[in-house]
Amino acid sequence: TKFTDLALDPKVLKAVADAGYETPTPIQAQAIPPALEGRDVLGIAQTGTGKTASFTLPMITMLGKGRARARMPRSLVLAPTRELAAQVAENFDIYAKHTKLTKALLIGGVSFAEQDKLIDRGVDVLIATPGRLLDHFERGKLLLTGVQIMVVDEADRMLDMGFIPDIERIFQLTPFTRQTLFFSATMAPEIERITNAFLHNPVRVEV
Ligand code: AMP
Repeated sequence: TKFTDLALDPKVLKAVADAGYETPTPIQAQAIPPALEGRDVLGIAQTGTGKTASFTLPMITMLGKGRARARMPRSLVLAPTRELAAQVAENFDIYAKHTKLTKALLIGGVSFAEQDKLIDRGVDVLIATPGRLLDHFERGKLLLTGVQIMVVDEADRMLDMGFIPDIERIFQLTPFTRQTLFFSATMAPEIERITNAFLHNPVRVEV
């Protein structure tokens, strides 16, 4: 498979070429086509396999040209730690650089005011740690009813850190009709349980 065989937005393909990537990694080759068809994806993959691009590239493509509304992000990426959320945000900037899509990074240790300003302006992609996201929600500053695509990254680490109840709560705040791309390095019973509860007929890909 080549990147150009995947039905990615030409602007995304250009950014991938700029990054110097020649061929998709196995997780990318397996996860991107069903994601572009609108299917839910359950990806079982470790860090270093290229999994960040395997959800970011289709997400950017699926968001296309739509416009974000104030306080209603169109997509949501959850990561277990500030560092991982910041890495996803950096990846998003690289792959979305030829698009007009906007993002906000919601992590602890930064003032709410700055993050509020971005959310108020309207963002296409919200990248967050679960606790911080719920803090914003509780403050009444954020609605998740416009989320079309939700990504959960490193679910096994979320489990280790006790975030599964937060993840369930966040799933329940998003529309039933959302598309979900869910990644975990391992499939513990608790992870299996929430994927059964919240993913709709997912394509399971494992590398
Ligand atoms: P990840 O597993 O998402 O943390 O990605 C691991 C590293 O692989 C990152 O530094 C990416 O920039 C790089 N990478 C991702 N996809 C590809 C690709 N198709 N070809 C070459 N490098 C890639």
